Amino acid sequence: MPTEELKDDAATYLMQTYSRQPISIARGRGAKVYDLEGREYIDFVGGIAVNVLGHGHPDLVQAIQRQAAQLIHTSNLYYTEPQVRLARLLVDHSFADRVFFCNSGAEANEAAIKLARRYGHERHGANRFEVITMKNSFHGRTLGMLTATGQDKVQKGFEPLMPGFTYAPFNDFSALEAMVNDQTAAIMLEPIQAEGGVYVADRDYLRRLREFCTQKDILLIFDEIQTGIGRTGTFFAYEQLGVKPDIMTLAKGLAGGVPIGACLATESVASAFTPGAHASTFGGNPLACAAALAVCRVLLEGRVLDHAKRMGEYLAKGLTDCKDRYRIVTDIRGLGLLQGMEVDADAKTLVADALARGILINAATERVLRFVPPLIISQQEIDKLLELLSTLLNQRQTAGKDSHH
Ligand SMILES: *Cc1c(COP(=O)(O)O)cnc(C)c1O
Repeated sequence: MPTEELKDDAATYLMQTYSRQPISIARGRGAKVYDLEGREYIDFVGGIAVNVLGHGHPDLVQAIQRQAAQLIHTSNLYYTEPQVRLARLLVDHSFADRVFFCNSGAEANEAAIKLARRYGHERHGANRFEVITMKNSFHGRTLGMLTATGQDKVQKGFEPLMPGFTYAPFNDFSALEAMVNDQTAAIMLEPIQAEGGVYVADRDYLRRLREFCTQKDILLIFDEIQTGIGRTGTFFAYEQLGVKPDIMTLAKGLAGGVPIGACLATESVASAFTPGAHASTFGGNPLACAAALAVCRVLLEGRVLDHAKRMGEYLAKGLTDCKDRYRIVTDIRGLGLLQGMEVDADAKTLVADALARGILINAATERVLRFVPPLIISQQEIDKLLELLSTLLNQRQTAGKDSHH
């Protein structure tokens, strides 16, 4: 089916929840994807920070094929080896002692909030239920998580919102401190606000937050759905930021593209969940867990993480050079292979222009381009992006000058 026909049918049969780029992606290999007509694109979107090993990685493909042939699914009424092994691997490589598996980021955050409420109720009574999240955050699209998300555009039209959430300005400790009261059960934030435009949490802010939460027995929840699994150059972003949360959520990159989510917590927090407290039919299913095991083993073996760290620094430096050369680039922010470029131009038009020239990038906001390629991206592929950005920014800058005269 040619792309034009596919677009027509999509317009007819799908609920119109997405505005899409005008191509259909048919297959992928490494950090490149190919559309239905066979055109090649370098993929700096990576399924939005999902395809950490790129496309068609042999270890991941083989793990999925083997597990599919053996057992795709069974109920959580029974034990399965991939689920238990994955939980152990995540515990061995994080601050956490226990894991709950689900199927998406929003679900992982739902589990985190349920756990925080349970813990709060048990330790401090039924009034301890409030969660403070950040303005400009993103935590998902379920009714609970769109409430947690501190952005009007995500909430609009879906009111009434869920009770028990308030929003603090990001990286502002005094403002947060002033909002805390006896009802505060948890504080939830992303170490890097990715969807919100790539804003990195301050180390000093996080350190004060950690001390404060410990002192008040308020749970600190890190949403590492986008920053986790090597994205920032370490397995988890918190490792570089100098503080450990009480609860952490994962999803996106965890199984390299197979749907999965996870909520991790310390023993004292996790013990608030008892049999029957939470569940998921698909959560931790053998296929997803076998895929996640393959992804995590490749990353923890070391070379890919080191590579991601180096490529992240290389990309950041190249983007910073762009900022030095082009006035319309106003800021570069990020860690590792999660980088944002703020422009004094329409980010969406730049995305369309890049697509037409064979590179997939994404606009996190109207003014911020976000780069989240597979962690196996090569230096040559990054060079191609930087070259293209130079061309496009130069065009924009020149066009901008003309329009002033
Ligand atoms: C993508 C994302 C989510 C939501 O994940 P879904 O799998 O789409 O539900 C939540 N938090 C962060 C930080 C994300 O990047």
